[in-house]
This record gives sequence, structure tokens and C-alpha cells, in this order.
Amino acid sequence: MRTIFRKAHVCDPSQGIDRVADVVVDEGKVLAIVEDSTPYDVGSCEVIDCSGLVLTPGLIDLHVHLREPGYEYKEDVQSGTQAAVAGGFSAVCCMPNTDPPLDEPSVIRGLLRRAEEVGVARVYPVAAITKGLQPEGFTEMAALKEAGAVAVTDDAYPLQLAEVLRRGMEYAAQLGLTVMTHCEDKSLTRDACMNEGLTATIMGLRGMPSVAEETQVARNCLMSLYTGCRLHILHVSTAGAVQIIRWAKQMGAPVTAETCPHYFALTDEACLGYNTSAKMNPPLRTQADCDAIIEGLRDGTIDAIATDHAPHAAYEKAQEFALAPFGIVGLETAFAVSYTELVSTGRMSLSQLVEKMSCQPAKVLGLPGGTLAPGSPADVALFDPNRKWTVRASEFRSKSRNTPFEGWELQGKPVLTMVAGKVVYHERW
Ligand SMILES: [Zn+2]
Repeated sequence: MRTIFRKAHVCDPSQGIDRVADVVVDEGKVLAIVEDSTPYDVGSCEVIDCSGLVLTPGLIDLHVHLREPGYEYKEDVQSGTQAAVAGGFSAVCCMPNTDPPLDEPSVIRGLLRRAEEVGVARVYPVAAITKGLQPEGFTEMAALKEAGAVAVTDDAYPLQLAEVLRRGMEYAAQLGLTVMTHCEDKSLTRDACMNEGLTATIMGLRGMPSVAEETQVARNCLMSLYTGCRLHILHVSTAGAVQIIRWAKQMGAPVTAETCPHYFALTDEACLGYNTSAKMNPPLRTQADCDAIIEGLRDGTIDAIATDHAPHAAYEKAQEFALAPFGIVGLETAFAVSYTELVSTGRMSLSQLVEKMSCQPAKVLGLPGGTLAPGSPADVALFDPNRKWTVRASEFRSKSRNTPFEGWELQGKPVLTMVAGKVVYHERW
């Protein structure tokens, strides 16, 4: 059925559009963006009045843990994609550390079948680099790509051996697959559970030094330059990492990078009181790191904002700080936290934010979407930029509640998400 979004503030950086217009959607695709849709307004078409609302291409999250198969008590494809669309995301890339891991074509196919049955957001699996996410022994990347994997990563089990990374990148490059890396030298983070620094000292906990992330960012960038393999650096958290990526890009390395809202909205002080909802890996850092990350977003060093949505059951996070698992949920707060911290404060424009959360993620992995150009998929998000709301984890669509933003007053709320022309989320406005 034809849908017309009337009088929306259309923000589509891919076409340089940032003005009030009508968007006409038909048969799952964007048909036109026009000043006046009256000629299209015929028959049984649905008209949505969008006065005062912002309409963008659907957000795309490069880094999500859907936990299916194997950990459905934390999240599953259904709850995870419902959380995604409630946050304005029309597509998510999901990480391979499931049980079994995404290291076999049959597991990838099973996941894609599940996503199709559920029919909420688009799901793009990211396969493992090594079999069983072990230190070495490669997966059949060609078969995984054939089955639908869009990239490869060992995310939470970062490759420690440079030789394995080298061969993995050479292999991936031949297949045109991007390698995504979580950067952490494990020999520097043994038994550590938060950022190394004053706050960890006060709390009497062992910290992860920023250099544990930075040495691997540097090594991986150099390897990308050497092998020619496209590299995407996951969840950048330190000022030094931003500088290294800036240098690598200047050197011509085919490198892209993402950060997450918590790395510019929070510092390690959020862990005070042994708050396990602020425990993640890489850990929350310092204000200077937050400032450098915002600068990296502004100057294009950091291409994208992802969530690293990592759901855990309440009883798992209820353990003492050192024992609780790493990770926070983020799909339902990412846009609003980013809007509040970056756009409301004047540090970034709305269209810069949409670039980081939709256009660039699509480009990083060559995914459909990230644009409202006529003929492209009708993946659309509608936001109320003036709506103030308070984060209540109890209201999340996600099965898990582990957010450090509980009780925060945020500005900007996703109110409708459409995937392939079908409304998959909406609330009253
Ligand atoms: Zn992750």
C-alpha cells in the first residue's frame, strides 16, 4: 500500500536534503520526495501527518548482540529486533559470539530464516574469523559469505596473534569481506574489569589501560595497510585510538571506525558504587577521551555510531563488580542519548548525526539503506526531536535491562519505524 509522510522535516544527508517535504512510499520502496504530494494522494493510500517530526533513512546498527542461538534468556531475534525498531533502527548487524557461534553456513542460514519469520528489522549476520572463535583455525569464509554473512569478526575474542590476523585479513580481502576488530591486548587486561585510573584505584579494582586498546588499533591499522584488507574498528573508546585511526586514514589505510553513545556520554565515574550496569569492554574512560571521541566524530575520523547492544540477565549483572559480565543494552537509547549529547548541545548537526547512524553504517559494509533516494528500500525512521522522556528500563522491548542510562532525561524520541514499506513500530505523537 502507498504511504505518504506529509510535511516532515526530511533529513537525508545522502542526498543533501534537510527541509520540510512529503515522502511518498510505494511497494516497499521510496517513490518520491516532493514539496506537495497532493497528486499522489489518491485511492486508499495512508497519509501520516509528520508536522514537527524528523524523517530520516532508517538507522543501521553495525554492532549488536542478538544472543540467538544459545542465549535466548538474555535476548532473541524477536526481542532484539523489536528493541531495534523501537530505537529507530531498521537494520542490525549481529555478532558471532553465540552458541553455537556464527562459524558455519548452517548457523548463518538458520539465523536469517529466524529473522525472516519474525519479520521486524533487517538482520545482517557477521561471521566468525576463526572456527569456534578460538585463537586460530579459520572458518570457511567463502561459504559463510555465500550463506549471507556481511563481514567477519572475532569481536569479544580478539585475535592476539598478528600472524593469524594477517592470514585472516588476506583471506577476507580475497573475498571482499571487511574484517571488524575489537582491539584489546589481553596480556595488558588480565583480571581487569574497568578503566585503569583514579576511579579504579578508589574502587580497589584492577583496571584496563588505554594502551591495551591502542596497541591493537595501531597493529590492526598497519595490517590493513599491509594486506589491503578493509578493516572496521569496533567501539573506539580512547583519545589515542582516535589519533591512530586519523593517522591510518591519512596513510591511505582502508580503515573505518565506530564508537558507541556511552563512550562520549559517560566516564568511568559511572562505575562508582560498583554499578555493574556501567561495566563494559572496552571500559568507560575519562572526560578527555569523551572529548576526543566527539572531535573524531566531528572531523570524520570516526565514521559511525553503533550500540554494541549487549543484553545480560538481571541475575548475571547482580553479581559483584569484578564477576559481572561486560556489556550494556543500547538499541532503545542510542538515538536519544546521541541527540541529547551531540545535537541539543550544538556539537553536531542533526544531519551529521544521521550520517553517523544511517548513511555511513550502510557505506561501511555496503548494505542497502542509509538513503531515501527514489527506488531505495522504504526503510524509514520518524523522530520527535522535541520530545523529552525519561529512560525506564522496565519499559524496554529488549529482554534485558542492563542500561547505565536508567532515569536519564533525554531529548528526541523515535516514534515510528518502517522496514521495506511496512510499519514495524509506532507510538502516538
Ligand atoms: Zn560486541
